[in-house]
Amino acid sequence: MSRSVNRIVTIGLVALLPACASTRHAAVKDTTKTFKTVVVDAGHGGKDSGAYRRYGPPEKLVTLDVAERLNRNLRESELKTVMTRSSDVFIPLDERVNIENAQKNAVFVSIHFNDSRRRGIRGFETYYHSSASFDLANRIQEKLMSIPHSANGGVHTANFRVLRNATCPAVLVECGYLSNRNEGNLARDSEYRELLADRIAEAIVEQRYGAGAYHGSTQVAAQPPQPNTSTGSTELAPVGGHR
Ligand SMILES: [Zn+2]
Repeated sequence: MSRSVNRIVTIGLVALLPACASTRHAAVKDTTKTFKTVVVDAGHGGKDSGAYRRYGPPEKLVTLDVAERLNRNLRESELKTVMTRSSDVFIPLDERVNIENAQKNAVFVSIHFNDSRRRGIRGFETYYHSSASFDLANRIQEKLMSIPHSANGGVHTANFRVLRNATCPAVLVECGYLSNRNEGNLARDSEYRELLADRIAEAIVEQRYGAGAYHGSTQVAAQPPQPNTSTGSTELAPVGGHR
């Protein structure tokens, strides 16, 4: 190759670089006012237990239960849903991303419970990555905060793969700390899990159709259950590989 041809090739490659760089981040389509489908993601599963305590169910089981309840509430509200898993199976993060991005007019909501070595820490947290996801994240956090005695862990950006690689608005909800005695006990209560699913569904339906559009879970209790403080230790094993 002559020097001049070589130079042209080099210039050509350099010119291509910005285009390549811009495709590294997924282009997010703002579907928050048009979506027809909600991709419901139950965190963890199978060999990945998520947070777990010596007593009580591991995170992977409570995320699945809340996700199934959320799925039911959304369907009752005439939204289509796709669940990334509906049983206790391991789904790699990239496969979850493929499932969320396969939907053309959707939003993505991932359900998790939180974990800390500091057992006093409690509260709801909602995470997002793209600016198109902020309204939905904020709305979910707001609706969760309407649950009496709840603590506000805030709305935050995060680089989690299911958020970062999403081509639709995507949020991840931490529905309280399993490591906290109060929230850990509440998470074991099916009526409380229904309440969580009800509030998240309300936020999603109102995001799409406006305030007052959600008619409520047919199964939600009038009053949230009081935390059961008579149960035993909620001590957690060392934290590892959460999310
Ligand atoms: Zn988790």
